[in-house]
Amino acid sequence: MEQQIVSVFLLFLATEFVVEFALNELNLRHVRARRAAKQLPDYFRGKLSPDEYEKSVDYTLAKGHLQRWTQIYGRLITLIILFSGLLAFFDDLAARLAQQLSLGVYGRGIIFCFAIGLYFTIAGFVTDLYSTFALEAKFGFNKITPKLYLADKLKGLILGLVIGIPFLFVILWLMQATGRFWWIWAFVFISWVQLLMIVIFPTFIAPWFNKFEPLKDKEFRDRILALADQVGFKTSGIFSMDGSKRSAHSNAYFTGIGNSKRIVLFDTLLEQMSMEQGLAVLAHEMGHYKMKHIQRRLVVQTIFLLVGLYVLSVLLDFEPLYSAFGLAPTHHAALVLFSLLSGSVTFYLGPLMNLLSRKHEYEADRFATLTLRDGKPMEEALINLTVKNLSNLTPHPWYSAYHYSHPTPAERISAIRQCAV
Ligand SMILES: [Zn+2]
Repeated sequence: MEQQIVSVFLLFLATEFVVEFALNELNLRHVRARRAAKQLPDYFRGKLSPDEYEKSVDYTLAKGHLQRWTQIYGRLITLIILFSGLLAFFDDLAARLAQQLSLGVYGRGIIFCFAIGLYFTIAGFVTDLYSTFALEAKFGFNKITPKLYLADKLKGLILGLVIGIPFLFVILWLMQATGRFWWIWAFVFISWVQLLMIVIFPTFIAPWFNKFEPLKDKEFRDRILALADQVGFKTSGIFSMDGSKRSAHSNAYFTGIGNSKRIVLFDTLLEQMSMEQGLAVLAHEMGHYKMKHIQRRLVVQTIFLLVGLYVLSVLLDFEPLYSAFGLAPTHHAALVLFSLLSGSVTFYLGPLMNLLSRKHEYEADRFATLTLRDGKPMEEALINLTVKNLSNLTPHPWYSAYHYSHPTPAERISAIRQCAV
């Protein structure tokens, strides 16, 4: 039985790897061929210089080459922890530590989960460091200093401990104490934590990493408020955020729920865009809210969570699963195994979620176009963002269908032009 479990898992892992590796190669070849043929999408002709186009291709290729290695490296890291005996080693270590410190069975489980988390964090440093300080820096995007980088990681670790320890404690306790239907209790608890995070993130967590200031530009602020009023969007404030201390990439987002939603604009976005373009981006974001895209996404994620927890509850008593990976059957082992194995089995859900997300993006673009009664600002904002972020102008259609949460800029512009205003 153990043999079969391992074989099935390896088959899924290999499938995912082959699909993603092949897509990346296809995309790289596609982008190179387009460059050789100088085939720019029509919408971008005259919008960027030949140098900018060359640079965007170089950036795309550099990221694709890195992806080639991270795809191999990431799976090696997973295979090593699953098959080298490290899992059992960490479990023993956690048991001994918990005993010495009299932490009990929950303490043991928490230490074990954190040891696994630490393993992946350390392994991830290699690619993260390279991506930040070599790749992003080479193309002028990285603005983070090593000092700030370290401070960020340290804060992340502290947050992980402060939130993670009580969270894991409650989950392990529910698994122990609430019997056969523990997964329903866990579901209620996790949903509640997610809601709590939405409330505390903008006011307690985000300000620890970034400075938020009320938007200074009075004219822009008034126009945003007028736009919010027009579409019936309630906001508790418009803030600019110092994103530029980490990266030159630009963005805008909304956080919070109900009437206390904040609009957050990166300073990089404010710098790079005209007011009309900025308003179009915000109209698009408001479209997501008005058309309940966020709620819909939450519903889908909630269903995944419930199904995932149910499957976990079924697997909990399936002993060959533990022995296949050298572990004794415990609740913390089940949690870790489930999170290590499930990704490769459900990887095709990613592209399906992207399909839904792209549908929502088209709808939000349409909303912005109709609200402003003009598609031009949205179109210009898209071109501007694409050029400034050196986005890939010519992705392979299969690659973008699989990986992209947004339609390509060319697809979006052509849809915007089809909206009758
Ligand atoms: Zn969007």
